[in-house]
Amino acid sequence: MSGHIIDGRAQAGLLRARIAAQVVDLATRGIVPGLAVVLVGDDPASHVYVRNKGVQTQEAGMASFEHRLSAATAQPDLLALIGRLNADPAIHGILVQLPLPPHLDAGAVLGAIDPAKDVDGFHVLNVGLLGTGQPAMVPCTPLGCLMLLQDRLGDLSGLHAVVVGRSNIVGKPMAQLLLAQNCTVTIAHSRSRDLPALCRQADILVAAVGRPRMIQGDWIKPGATVIDVGINRITEGDRTRLVGDVDFDAAARVAGAITPVPGGVGPMTIACLLANTLTACCRAHGLPEPA
Ligand code: NDP
Repeated sequence: MSGHIIDGRAQAGLLRARIAAQVVDLATRGIVPGLAVVLVGDDPASHVYVRNKGVQTQEAGMASFEHRLSAATAQPDLLALIGRLNADPAIHGILVQLPLPPHLDAGAVLGAIDPAKDVDGFHVLNVGLLGTGQPAMVPCTPLGCLMLLQDRLGDLSGLHAVVVGRSNIVGKPMAQLLLAQNCTVTIAHSRSRDLPALCRQADILVAAVGRPRMIQGDWIKPGATVIDVGINRITEGDRTRLVGDVDFDAAARVAGAITPVPGGVGPMTIACLLANTLTACCRAHGLPEPA
């Protein structure tokens, strides 16, 4: 029997529609949420991401401010721009597109963003708030994964979640979010022993590794919910395609539900960026946070 395929595009569409309705409501009070995206350099993938973010921000009725800077931008100039964005009341969210060119200190740049406007949730203050169970700006990709899981499973309490990957942007915050939902959480990484056996314990398996189809069908516990964060471009014959970290066809035969790549986690990430911008805007104006 084949597992349910979680439609991330549809879920993201519903979330964006909910956000757009709340933005209309804010407009009646004369408030327009604003998102500033800063892109330094010529990375083609980053340009595509930034364009998509700008389009979806405007479609949600928010104001989008794009700052495209040359690859040669000096650290003080970038920090000065962040300072201006921090001080601008029309801007509620600031996102610096990563990776930055190597001469720039990404930690210092992310640390310069006002934590209240840190819609990527990478500032150490937000990392600490999340880790101590306090209201924080939560990184968009794990937030989207959590929403997909809750939509599918409802209460996650007591489930064993195995997160493969421990990066600061996906694996670690994902583990914190699942812990806050009362899951029993195992974090696996490149030094973990017997990864297949760890994965087989998972009621919820989140793969955030960056290795095409690494997780095999027989690593999946029957009925488990599998969230595949990986985005890997592979070449098959004379064409390239995107695949996840999970061997989808084999896993889908065993899992209770699974996200595809593309069309799973990816669309939720930008929708959660908009959700975080709306949250930041409501907080800035002392309004109740969106549900
Ligand atoms: P990183 O490279 O920062 O982290 C990868 C993690 O996987 C590390 O913790 C690493 O362990 C672990 N790992 C690597 N090899 C193995 C292995 N053989 N066995 C077990 N663990 C291993 O990647 P990210 O977290 O940034 O991204 C992960 C994937 O998610 C990528 O494919 C990326 O493109 C995708 N992604 C997708 C997004 C979306 O919107 N859908 C957003 C962000 C990322 P160690 O720490 O020991 O090195």
